[in-house]
Amino acid sequence: MLSYRHAFHAGNHADVLKHFVLIELLRYFNRKDKPWWYIDTHAGAGCYALDSEQAGKTAEFAGGIGRLWGRDDLPEALRAYIDAVAQFNPHGRLTFYPGSPALAMTQLREQDRMRLFELHPADVSLLEQTFARDTDRVLIRKADGFAGLRGLLPPAARRAVVLIDPPYEVKEDYRRVVDTVADAMKRFPAGTYAVWYPMLARPEARQLPERLADLGAESWLDVRLALRKPARDGFGMFGSGLYIVNPPWVLPQTLEAVMPWLVRALGEDEDAGFDLEHHIE
Ligand code: SAM
Repeated sequence: MLSYRHAFHAGNHADVLKHFVLIELLRYFNRKDKPWWYIDTHAGAGCYALDSEQAGKTAEFAGGIGRLWGRDDLPEALRAYIDAVAQFNPHGRLTFYPGSPALAMTQLREQDRMRLFELHPADVSLLEQTFARDTDRVLIRKADGFAGLRGLLPPAARRAVVLIDPPYEVKEDYRRVVDTVADAMKRFPAGTYAVWYPMLARPEARQLPERLADLGAESWLDVRLALRKPARDGFGMFGSGLYIVNPPWVLPQTLEAVMPWLVRALGEDEDAGFDLEHHIE
């Protein structure tokens, strides 16, 4: 069952956090000439038209990228992310929102490679269209991203950023995320693994960061952005987080500078806030 379509959510607050951090990870990898791989286990469609029927139905981007677009008081560290989004909107009006593969592409150099997994047939063909001119550097597989990752590790380049961003529509995703990161850390301990997770009342979501912490990575970072008070009935996502194994040592400092600003820009009530924990060897 594949009912999730990212087009309904593209550019929302969760994408802002996830994609800003993704750009920071790749920019850090680009400090060295040595090649890297970007592996996206759940790639989505690659790029989203914000005036499409799907995006227009929920207009979630209005509460995310829409609140950052055109601001002239952006913290320095958010600038690279906004500049990357701007590459898809050359006329200045926010019309397209790039998903994780399209944003990663803005950082990809000649020597780097991307490996993308996506199961939804319509989204796979959109991805293939988007990257049709770059088949040397970008490989797309219509396959399960959790299983697909195993086959790629360790990557030839020995440097990789892996984004694990499932829809969490089925409970099994929570377990598979933990099993996949555990397996990946064995196959390729030096990899940088970024897991996005929703803040929800359901126990699997609340326990996920703890279960990832229990894997015992020496260097890790957990950042959460809460937008609002959790609903009384316990339904609905009220924020999201990223758990990163082997984050760059500079990332905590960047997040300390940006997260308070993001809370002010995206927060919806007095319960809006952020949490940042890390241990970097
Ligand atoms: N990473 C994308 C981004 O940031 O732009 C968004 C991905 S979206 C949250 C999750 C995607 O995973 C959906 O497009 C869905 O079709 C796909 N999907 C669901 N289960 C999958 C699986 N087991 N393997 C690969 N893709 C899957």
